[in-house]
Amino acid sequence: MPSLAVLSYHRIVEDTDNKAWPYLERGTAVRARTLEAQLADIAHIADIISEDVVLEVLAQRQRLERSSIWLTFDDGYADVKRAALLAQTGTVFWSTITSTRPLPADAWYAALLSAHRTHGDLDLGFGPFEFDLSIPAGRARLVNGPERRSFLRASLTTQDATMNELARQLDANTAPDNLYLDESELRTMVDTGWSVGSHGVTHTPFDSLSADEVRNEGLTSRQALNALGRIRSIALPDGALAHIDALRSVGYDCVLGLGNAACAVGAEVQPRFLVPDDPNWVKCVLAPALIGAAHD
Ligand SMILES: [Zn+2]
Repeated sequence: MPSLAVLSYHRIVEDTDNKAWPYLERGTAVRARTLEAQLADIAHIADIISEDVVLEVLAQRQRLERSSIWLTFDDGYADVKRAALLAQTGTVFWSTITSTRPLPADAWYAALLSAHRTHGDLDLGFGPFEFDLSIPAGRARLVNGPERRSFLRASLTTQDATMNELARQLDANTAPDNLYLDESELRTMVDTGWSVGSHGVTHTPFDSLSADEVRNEGLTSRQALNALGRIRSIALPDGALAHIDALRSVGYDCVLGLGNAACAVGAEVQPRFLVPDDPNWVKCVLAPALIGAAHD
């Protein structure tokens, strides 16, 4: 039986991009040439299908002839235009706040990338620690340590205060380059066969919010994106599973989380493979998973 899997990408970066290392080290970027190799391998084992077809299949109104893949790209980065040159269809999950301010993770990485103080001690409220931005081991805590994880879940006011403190201690800027697709670029992608989904308003993980706040994130983001087509799917920020009923109540047909597994008809949340910057990943991980799911 053919199986269906959803892949989750974030940024698509060039080898020469010297501002990509926080994303590569965190696992939220793949290099353009890696994506190209992965898509070439996928072509041997599966079809790449659109969101509309995926939703028909999950609603059991359409059957797959061959194993299939839905390509999804979270956070709405402008460099996803590179993927649109390589794949005829896919879906961009956009947080509407990016039209007015950077996502918290991007502001955080911008501070690391612009730091004039590159090693020494830091204390951001979780106890002092040593850092050295010149080597991966020396920056691992800043890329994904308790300070950053707590920051991502904080209110916007607390995030602003933490960013000011991080920038002060690193002698850095906090304003990233504009990294995101704008509405006209999203429109162009939609016109060529891509679709847009919601990734919330603020990108706050939903397990840090109340059910009412999650309902509001779902509703407000969908209204903001309505001009780009019917918004039927939402990708949970950071994959945090909470208040799924609240999202269903505002009309989403499909809720996407994370988890290395194929789709299952009737699942409350569909898992997505978080794709690493590894050109052999399709052969080593995705292909065996599709075969395993087909025999389940
Ligand atoms: Zn995200």
